[in-house]
Amino acid sequence: MSRYTGPSCRLCRRQGIKLFLKGERCYTPKCAIERRRAAPGSSASPTRRRRRLSEYGVHLREKQKARYIYGVGEAQFRNHYSKAAKQKGPTGENLLRILESRLDNVVFRLGWADSRKEARQIVSHGHIALNGRRSKTPSIEVKIGDKMTWMERSKSSTLHEISEHQATRKTAPDWLQKDDKSMEGSMIRLPEKDDNDVRIDDLLIVEFYSR
Ligand code: SF4
Repeated sequence: MSRYTGPSCRLCRRQGIKLFLKGERCYTPKCAIERRRAAPGSSASPTRRRRRLSEYGVHLREKQKARYIYGVGEAQFRNHYSKAAKQKGPTGENLLRILESRLDNVVFRLGWADSRKEARQIVSHGHIALNGRRSKTPSIEVKIGDKMTWMERSKSSTLHEISEHQATRKTAPDWLQKDDKSMEGSMIRLPEKDDNDVRIDDLLIVEFYSR
């Protein structure tokens, strides 16, 4: 199955939880989950009981949750998992590190985009250079010491202006370093499990693939 391109809020409704896919809107009462929670008798209302999931269903839901949050297709997610399984250390933690180190996620975490979806677009439209070279691959893995900058020709774009404004309002996690004036960022250490901004139970994902 390829990457999902439909409405983001539908994914949250499907999962029954907030996945924070739409940036600032997710923190406002406009959030679809919040609105449904507030509506008495709705399927998301606390007064309605959710269907009990099987063990497989719980594992599958966690895997889908991670996939939706990072905006990764089924096949690519499996590739990330296979890579994580070949690395030293706990597979689940390796997987989370690989997901966090994706270039689109790094652009988001630097505060240059309001959501991961927006960050993915910024990268795939060729606005970002990785170590001085234009990179249009959102899944490329950023390594310690790698430097992210905006392409010279993109610096006069409205997108860059919006991004610059956003960046000053957001702090980067401590595994990244950024300069909001020059709009440059770099990775200073590998992200750890606890550095994720959304809680994902990596062990459930490992269980899913270990069936
Ligand atoms: Fe999910 Fe954000 Fe939409 Fe709320 S606004 S349902 S958290 S994507």
